Amino acid sequence: MNILAIGAHPDDVESRCGGTLAKYAKQGHKVFIACATNGNCGSAVLSKEEIAAVRYEESKKSAAIIGAEFINLGYDDEMFFEDKEARLKFIDLVRYCKADVIFTHNPHDYNPDHELTSKIVNDIAIMIPVKHIETENPPYENIPSIWYWETVCSMGFVPTDYVDITDTFETKMKMLECMQSQRTWMSANFKHLGGDDDKFFKNVRITSEFRGMQAGCAYAEGFVRALDGYRGKLTERVLP
Ligand SMILES: [Zn+2]
Repeated sequence: MNILAIGAHPDDVESRCGGTLAKYAKQGHKVFIACATNGNCGSAVLSKEEIAAVRYEESKKSAAIIGAEFINLGYDDEMFFEDKEARLKFIDLVRYCKADVIFTHNPHDYNPDHELTSKIVNDIAIMIPVKHIETENPPYENIPSIWYWETVCSMGFVPTDYVDITDTFETKMKMLECMQSQRTWMSANFKHLGGDDDKFFKNVRITSEFRGMQAGCAYAEGFVRALDGYRGKLTERVLP
C-alpha cells in the first residue's frame, strides 16, 4: 500500500504517527510524509526564511530514517487559509502519492492550521478519482481511508484503533530527534505553560506509553477512523 501522512507543521507527523509509519515502512509499504506549512514561525531567533529552511532539512532527515519521501506544500505557518488553490494542491498531493491510507490531524485540535489540514484532507478524499478535477497528477480509482491522530496533549481524543509500536518506538524518537530546532525552541519559549522543560519529547513518550497501557503493549499510537461515506472499505484492517 501507499501510506500518506499529512500534517500542518514539520514535526506533527513524526510525533503523532511516526511509530506507525516506521512499522508500515518495515513491512515494505511506501510511505510519504507531507506538510502543509513550512513552519516559518517556529523560532524566536532565526528569520522566517532561515527557520523554514532548517525545518525542511530536519524533516527530510527524519523521513530518510524510514525511507519515506518528504513533501512540503509551503504555506506560511499559522497563516494557512482555505481556497481553490489549497484544495487542488491537496488533491494533487494525494494523487501524486496514490495514497491508499491517509493519516492527519483530528478535525478539532488546538491550532487552526491543524484543523484546516484535517478539513481539507477529509473534503478532498472523494475528489481523488474525479476526472473533471484536473491536477498535474492524474486521478486514480481509489478513495483512501482516513485516520485521525492524537490531538495535542490528547485533549478530548479517544482512540478507536491502536497500533502496537513497541518495535518502532525508538525509531520514532530518532525521527523526532531530527527536529532539534523545535525541541530547543519549545524548551526556551514555552516556560509559561509550566511543567517539564523538554515537554515536546516528554509528551510524545508519555502518550505512546499511555496508549500502550490501554492497548496491552509497551508503546502504542491511537487513531480514530473518519467514518464519513466513501472513505475506504470499512471491512478491511489497513493499520499495521
Ligand atoms: Zn502542528
